[in-house]
Order: sequence, then C-alpha cells, then structure tokens
Amino acid sequence: MRIAVASGKGGTGKTTIATSLALCLAQGHSALPPIFVDCDVEAPNAHLFLEPSLEQRQPVGILIPVVDEARCTHCGKCAEVCAYHAIAVLGEKTLVFPQLCHGCGSCTALCPEDAISETPDRIGVIERGPARHGIDFRRGLLDVGKPMAVPIIRELQKQIAPLPNQTVILDAPPGTSCPVVATIRGADYLLLVTEPTPFGLHDLRLAAQATQELGIPAGVIINRDNGTYPELDHFCHSTGLPILLRIPFERIIAEGVAQGKTLIDIQPEYREQLLSVFTRILEYTQGE
Ligand code: SF4
Ligand code: SF4
Repeated sequence: MRIAVASGKGGTGKTTIATSLALCLAQGHSALPPIFVDCDVEAPNAHLFLEPSLEQRQPVGILIPVVDEARCTHCGKCAEVCAYHAIAVLGEKTLVFPQLCHGCGSCTALCPEDAISETPDRIGVIERGPARHGIDFRRGLLDVGKPMAVPIIRELQKQIAPLPNQTVILDAPPGTSCPVVATIRGADYLLLVTEPTPFGLHDLRLAAQATQELGIPAGVIINRDNGTYPELDHFCHSTGLPILLRIPFERIIAEGVAQGKTLIDIQPEYREQLLSVFTRILEYTQGE
C-alpha cells in the first residue's frame, strides 16, 4: 500500500507525521519495515529524523535538444511545439534554452529535417540506504539552480518496488503544484496534515480539490490543534474528509521536533494513535 503524506502549505508538521508513521510501522506493526520516500526534492529533510546511511547514489538527468545548424532549415516547427518556450528560431539561428527545457522530446520527434539530437543534462540525484529500524529510505535531491523537480520524483516513483505487504510512505513537497501531483499520483491513500488557521484551511481546500480530481481517498490529521478554529472541522465534515487524528499544540513537541526528534520519540504514546490511523487506512483501502 502506498500512503502519501501531504499538506497544502509548508510548516504544518507533515514530515514529522510521515517519519513517525514510518517508525511505528518499522517497530513491529508489520513484518517488513516500510519504504520511505522523501519527494520534497527541493528541500528534503526527512533524513534528519530517520538518520539513513545513504550508501547508494544515482544521478538523474533529462535529455536536452541539440540543433545541427547544418541540417536545420529554420522552419520553426520545434518552437511551435515547445510548450515551455525552450527553443526559438531567430532569423537564421535556432536557439535552445536548457534552463527552460523539460526534456519532453517533442521537438526532436517533430523536426522534419532530423536536425535535433539529444544530450543528457544532470538535474539532481537519488540517494538510498537503510534508516532507523531498517526503514528502506530514499530521497531525491535537485541540483542547485535546476528548476525541475518532477523528473526526479518520477524517477523515485519508478524505482519503488515494494514486496507483498510492504507499505510505502511518500513524503510530498508542500503546496499543490506539479511536484505534489507527481508524488501523490498512484497513491492508495493521502494523509493531509494541516493546522487550525485560516492559512491552513485555505491550503487544505486546494489540496483536497487536487485529491478529488485525482480520485485518491484522503483523511486529515490536524496538527497543533488548540480547539479554537471550528471552520476547519466544518470544512472536513462538509466535504466528507475524515479527521483521523488531532495533535494538540504542546511546547514540548515543538522543541523536540526542532532537535530532530519525531513525534513518537518525543511522546511515545502517539505510537498507538498513529497505528490506529494506519489500521483505519488499511481497512478503508481494503474495503473499497
Ligand atoms: S524543427 Fe528542425 S528544421 Fe525546423 S527549425 Fe527546428 S530544428 Fe530547425
Ligand atoms: S525537449 Fe520539449 S521542452 Fe525541451 S525544447 Fe524540446 S519541446 Fe521544448
């Protein structure tokens, strides 16, 4: 089963929940420790909590077009097909802008003169290794200055091959843009971590909308719940999003997280609660 953990906005405690759930499962709920995938490739931080030994590294790249000016007739077909304005014909020159190119290959496929070849361009790296309690930890890391997270997330997704009954936990980037969609697509269940503020509700609405469009069942964990923002509950009830867990605001949790501790390192009693969240997800997905 694949569980994606997402939040409409950053700073809701999404990674704390995702890593805590992984530790709960690794500490005996199932025979196999889970696979944990940090898909927040622009700013991965799950390693701070799970302390993996990153032994394997694999570069990730995309294919960038290279124009053979001797064959090019400057017909402009490549520029017409490029949705990202990464290739342009200016008079007698056809220019490629690698920083805008998404490596989709359309220009190469459509060039009538066979004037375009492709060259690999590194955009980042995938790292993998064992983490606490045998968790199979993977993460992607976007190179500085490279704008495209999605090809790295796709490569991370491609390499996931869980054994029977092995759970996969995907820690999504914040927001609701393409990298989030690339992370949650194909998940069996989405855990949405939010906080009881107008900003939290605003971003939860966007995240819930994306989930609905993708047809992924979802539930909510309210972090730093202080019981003073009923609008969040109203939204969840009116949209049929189950509230699976409430974690009250406590200074001791905030201080522990700042020191790189997971929720269950700080307050082990949350282990049972997170396991019952997992059981509910399991029952829901198996009963569908
Ligand atoms: S499609 Fe091919 S021939 Fe036409 S401008 Fe582009 S590279 Fe040149
Ligand atoms: S590979 Fe795709 S994104 Fe890159 S220049 Fe060609 S059409 Fe544009």
